[in-house]
Amino acid sequence: MNLRERFLGALRGEEVDMVPAVSVTQTGTVDFMEASGSSWPEAHYDAEKMADLAVAAYEVGGLESVRYPYCLTALAEVVGCGLKEGTRDTQPSVETHPGLDGIEMPDDLSQAGRVPEILEAANLVRSKVGDEVPIIVGIEAPDELAAHILGSSNYIKGLITDPEMVEEALEVSNELSMEYAQLVLDSGADAVCVPGYSTLDIVDPNSFKNLIKPTYREFVENVDGDIIMHMCGHIDQIIGDLADCGFEGISIEAQTEIQKAKEIIGNKASVIGNISTPNTLLNGSPQEVIKECQQALKAGTDILAPGCGLAPRTPTENVQAIVKARNQYYQK
Ligand SMILES: [Zn+2]
Repeated sequence: MNLRERFLGALRGEEVDMVPAVSVTQTGTVDFMEASGSSWPEAHYDAEKMADLAVAAYEVGGLESVRYPYCLTALAEVVGCGLKEGTRDTQPSVETHPGLDGIEMPDDLSQAGRVPEILEAANLVRSKVGDEVPIIVGIEAPDELAAHILGSSNYIKGLITDPEMVEEALEVSNELSMEYAQLVLDSGADAVCVPGYSTLDIVDPNSFKNLIKPTYREFVENVDGDIIMHMCGHIDQIIGDLADCGFEGISIEAQTEIQKAKEIIGNKASVIGNISTPNTLLNGSPQEVIKECQQALKAGTDILAPGCGLAPRTPTENVQAIVKARNQYYQK
């Protein structure tokens, strides 16, 4: 069983020889930038640099996947949001919001903004790592794009005061997110990872059920391929709704317990995670990473992975400890 077969098998709930150790969230660290000679901000914008940095997480960090890009702003840029470029250790961010009336829908999304670079990166990664390593591409969820279009405070306020406006923004955004996801999957990615924006810091469980859940369901129904939902924070109250949406995998942070998540999700989706990125991976020792990985494996994680995007200053030895922990677990 090669790494790609193992990852896709685990993601789809099939039996595999061991739990894969990957990252479904961002992997651009300063160490990997130095090792690959490819740094932010250029690696956000250029296919070649994007691919080189992504491959370093596999070749140097030992992760059993290649994952890119490193931010969630490509679609926002396409519809006319103003971006701040980012630096060597900060991601691009959205600075201005066009509003629903000001958005520009592209004639050909595959040629718009940075999209062709991200699509081309799949070919470049494949030519570097071959067919046996899974490629995972992060894309903006419809609710993330809706919040970028409206501005996050308008989005959050609108959920309460103007749900019709939010619904309209979600509809427009979903059209684009679905089209983009399909382009990415057709470019050669094995799975897309969609980090949901509407965490429980943003919405209450009721709004989630009424507005976000139908949007995600529509997304899953219209995109052909393997889809991972990543949701930050403590999500016990909405994880059942997420499981109903039809995602192949649900990626959780350390605040949500693997065992609890598995109990709620059952066999509706695989559970991915959940090594703490800010605490253990960034600030802990390799021994602490190994300990937390062992706990996640014991709790039954289907895919061992960081709980969220790697902090840029995460030490390489802590990333390497993830696969080490998995190997030790199976030696016992
Ligand atoms: Zn997260």
